[in-house]
Amino acid sequence: MTKLSDLGPPIVGKRHGNEPSDERDHFHKCGACGQMIDLRDLRQVIWHEKPGHEPLELDA
Ligand SMILES: [Zn+2]
Repeated sequence: MTKLSDLGPPIVGKRHGNEPSDERDHFHKCGACGQMIDLRDLRQVIWHEKPGHEPLELDA
């Protein structure tokens, strides 16, 4: 299983518009592997764009 830290240091994306007031708004369930993606970390977003990927091991 690929570890999150294998993908390099965190890449923090900029949100458009205001910060959501609810922490859950930062997360999105991946339609392919079912893992929750933190949309603030582009490493995770990019990983889950890849066809045939496995869930990431969130070690960082
Ligand atoms: Zn996924």
